[in-house]
Amino acid sequence: MKEKIHPKWYEATVVCACGNTFKTGSTLQNLHVEICSACHPFFTGKQKFVDTEGRVEKFMTKYGSVTSKRSKKAKSESDKAKAPEPAKAAEPAEPALT
Ligand SMILES: [Zn+2]
Repeated sequence: MKEKIHPKWYEATVVCACGNTFKTGSTLQNLHVEICSACHPFFTGKQKFVDTEGRVEKFMTKYGSVTSKRSKKAKSESDKAKAPEPAKAAEPAEPALT
C-alpha cells in the first residue's frame, strides 16, 4: 500500500432508524441510515411506507402540501375577492388601550 494516501478505516457501527444496529467496515465511525436489511420491505415481505426519518414531512414543510381540489377552490375564491391571504395566520391582536 502506498503511504499517506489511505483514509483511516474503522469498524463502524451502523444505526438504522428502525432501531437495528450492526457493524461494518467504513472510513466513518458511526453511520446513520433510514433503512436496513431488517426493516426493508424486500426482506420483511410487508408493504410499508418508507418514511422512517420524517423525510416526507421535511419535504412538506419545505415545499408545502400537494395542491388539492379544495385548496384550488379556496384559492379561486380568494382571487374573486381580490384579497391576498395574510402571511401569518395568527397575528397577535393589538393591545387594548387602558
Ligand atoms: Zn432498519
